Amino acid sequence: MQNAALEAAGLDAVYLAFRVEPSSLHMALEGFKAIGLSGFNVTIPHKVAVMRHLDDREETAATIGAANTVVVHNGRLIGHNTDGAGALAALRESGVEPSGMRVLLLGSGGAARALAFTLAEIAESVTILNRTGSKAQTLAEDVRRATGATSVTGGDANPSTLLKAAARSNMVVNATSIGMNPDAGETPIARELLRPDMVVFDIVYSPLETRLLQDAGRVGAKCVNGLTMLVWQGALAFKLWTGAEAPVSAMREALTTVLRARPDRGPD
Ligand code: NAP
Repeated sequence: MQNAALEAAGLDAVYLAFRVEPSSLHMALEGFKAIGLSGFNVTIPHKVAVMRHLDDREETAATIGAANTVVVHNGRLIGHNTDGAGALAALRESGVEPSGMRVLLLGSGGAARALAFTLAEIAESVTILNRTGSKAQTLAEDVRRATGATSVTGGDANPSTLLKAAARSNMVVNATSIGMNPDAGETPIARELLRPDMVVFDIVYSPLETRLLQDAGRVGAKCVNGLTMLVWQGALAFKLWTGAEAPVSAMREALTTVLRARPDRGPD
């Protein structure tokens, strides 16, 4: 996706993937500085750990406590987080305006954190439910403290809490890894809890159409898939590194081709 963007923009640059062990993170970052990279993405499991090694953190990354994008400027590492803004852009591109919506957010990992902080600023309410309920409670407290939003709550995801939260929500966001390949038959919420007046946003992008989105489509809910968010978080990173607007359609086309050809794995 990023190489397609660089080529479409006519930039003499390349995007490469490196596997870095947690114990080597600091060394890798020093190496990136030394060889003069323009920037890089950070993914599982380094999004939180990278924060303490950065020279500066843009406000969103600092608030969320995780970075997915780093810009190298004058030998300094500046951390950003484009996941939340990427999710928002994906919703808006799909014709969904989350302002004033009542959101049920599933998950409390890195991606859910970014989404919780972003949605809390504009939604009417955000209910966070997670397998490990204590993580959802902590996330809700962090969001309330940082944003001043009062209608953000967190707890355990079980059949009874899911039933109650779904009944009072008109948007469901899956930010867990449930339904991701190779476990594409799974879904984080029962189909009976979905309604035609709901927006269902699944940030999982492999497979392109998850079981949750299939269920949501069957009940007539509005569906937004994870590919759209992946494109936009990447487009925002591209702009941070290059200063140029991202060629979004070239990125989407490249990504769709990869995901269709290798449905069992994402580009990560
Ligand atoms: P993460 O930090 O590892 O968090 C995973 C979350 O899923 C946690 O809330 C975890 O619950 C929950 N979970 C995992 N397996 C579960 C299971 N079997 N049953 C119930 N809950 C389970 O991962 P992440 O970075 O937030 O990523 C989450 C998903 O979002 C991944 O599929 C990733 O590919 C996708 N993602 C998409 C985009 C995009 O642009 N579309 C961007 C980022 C991430 P516990 O807290 O209880 O462990």
